[in-house]
This record gives sequence, C-alpha cells and structure tokens, in this order.
Amino acid sequence: MEKAADVLRAGGLVAFPTETVYGLGANAEDPGAVARIYQAKGRPPSHPLIVHIGGAELLRDWVEDVPATVHLLAERFWPGPLTLVLRRGRRVPLEATGGLETVAVRVPDHPVALALLSGFGGGVAAPSANRFGSVSPTTADHVRAELGDAVDFVLDGGPCDVGVESTIVDATGDVPSILRPGGATREDLEAVLGRPLDVPSTSRVRVPGQHPSHYAPRARVVLVEPEVIVDEAERAQEQGHQVGVLLPPSLVDAPVKAHAVVAIPGSTAAYARGLYGFLRELDRRGCDLIVASLPVEEGLGLAIANRLRRAAGPRSSG
Ligand code: AMP
Ligand code: MG
Repeated sequence: MEKAADVLRAGGLVAFPTETVYGLGANAEDPGAVARIYQAKGRPPSHPLIVHIGGAELLRDWVEDVPATVHLLAERFWPGPLTLVLRRGRRVPLEATGGLETVAVRVPDHPVALALLSGFGGGVAAPSANRFGSVSPTTADHVRAELGDAVDFVLDGGPCDVGVESTIVDATGDVPSILRPGGATREDLEAVLGRPLDVPSTSRVRVPGQHPSHYAPRARVVLVEPEVIVDEAERAQEQGHQVGVLLPPSLVDAPVKAHAVVAIPGSTAAYARGLYGFLRELDRRGCDLIVASLPVEEGLGLAIANRLRRAAGPRSSG
C-alpha cells in the first residue's frame, strides 16, 4: 500500500479495486499524471474522469459548493457506487475534467481503495482500468491482461462486488438527474430525494447512432427479445458465426445450439457482478457474435440494460 501511494506521489499510475470495477488512478492534482491515464487508455482527453476521495467530509476541498441535496445523498450513499457531479473546485485541474467546469466525485466502498486514498492523502482521478470503449475490468487479471506495462502498479483486491460502474448524478442544478445508471439504484436515489429522477433514454427500440459502442467486447453484440434468443442463436450459428449466448434464467433448461453459452444468474446483483466477466469469457472462447436480451429495467437491471445496449451500439470504423 505504501509503495502504491509512492507511485501516485511520483506521478505514476496505480490500478486499484473498488466495489464497482477496477480504476486506473493518478494524483488528481497532477496534470502530467492525469495525462498518462488518457494515454494508457487511448481515451479522448475530452472525456472527464472521476475524482476518488477518502470520505464525504473531504468533499468541500474538491468542489465549489455543496448543495443541501448533496449532503443528503453523500450521507446515505458514501462510501458507495454513487458519483456526484458538482462545480469544480480550484484544486481540480481542467485536465481531469475534460475541460469542464464541473467535476465528478465519489467515495469508493472498498477497503483497498480507502486504504490507498488515506495513505496517499489526496484525490485520485480514475476512470475504469481498461482500454477506451472496451469492457471494464472486475479482476486484477483483467487489468494486467489489457493494460500490461502501461500501468505502474496493480493492487489486487479480488473480484469486484458490484461489477458495474457507479451511478453518475448531476447535482449542479436545482433538480438532480442521472447521467449514467449504475451501482446505486434509481429507486434508492428516488427514495432518498423524495422525487422521481430523470434517466437517459431507456427505450427498447434500437436507434442506430444513439448508443455509440462502449463497454463492448470484441464480439458483436445483438439484442433480441428473450422468446427468440434460442432461435436467433441457432440461426446465426448455422450461418457460420461462432455464437455466444447470454441465456436468461427463465431459459436455463433450453437446449441451445451455439458455440458457447453462459447461464445468467437468477439474482440481478449476481448478474451485474458477473456481466463483464461473462462478456470477456465469450471473447476468450472465440465467439464473434453474442446474442443477449435486456433484463427488466428495475434496480440493477437498469445499469445492466444500459451496458448491454451500449455494447450492442454501432462500432466506429477503424
Ligand atoms: P469511467 O470511470 O471510465 O466510466 O469514466 C468516468 C465517467 O464519469 C464517464 O462516463 C464520464 O463521462 C463521467 N463524468 C466524469 N466527470 C463528469 C462531469 N463533470 N460531467 C459529466 N460526466 C462526468
Ligand atoms: Mg470506463
């Protein structure tokens, strides 16, 4: 842990476990170190990072002002999978916010992440520890396999418990809104705020171009209704594809003709925890096409559906 904190102080990159996914961290106040994150990920510099801090009481060091609703949310959800977007404090360089006057902040709920933050003493800017656009890592092995020497130090805290990224809430205006669904559920947030929250488009209709590919495995992802998942897999397999199937719990006993089948766990929490590992496994087994369905968009199902939709989104050429 001491060595990891030293690496951060020296301007290096440390991958660390959080309860959501593994992060690729740098000293948030060091523009050069932050630039190395973008380089390692191949991420466009206009995409802002999340500043991780060691406790809610430190929030005022990193943001311009703390509205009353934010106190409420921080008290209930931190440490935890909720990221709050607020007005950028002077300590935060524009390099970490993609040039925005707002900053995303969160207190992770993981003993290793919290020990790193307390040992280091400052804020750690970190996106997920994967190449830009690909599937987020939920084990230290995923990080090593994907980033290799681009990361100076990897802290191994075992598999992540939540498995999908944090929920991002824009708290800069009078009415908070969800920018990205994630580990903190919409229902829990609404209960604390006492009002409904806006969520980005959750339409089942696939509109090309609306969900640019992100969180994507190598294999192409196709979303179909659960009733036709078995037929669709068989058809694509007969057409010569190496088909991977994410098989919904209601179909566990269905005989599926496909190259590889992953049975989705019955609980949504277990599905979220396993999702990125399943996608990586289907890639590893050589699938070029993954057939899947969207879960019911309640609780963690909202975040899972969001990631699957984006994994199925159009890929940029080249
Ligand atoms: P990642 O951890 O890789 O998912 O990346 C961080 C996420 O936080 C991205 O989806 C960013 O768009 C989002 N984010 C970070 N800062 C801001 C901000 N100031 N406003 C809106 N979104 C943000
Ligand atoms: Mg990411």
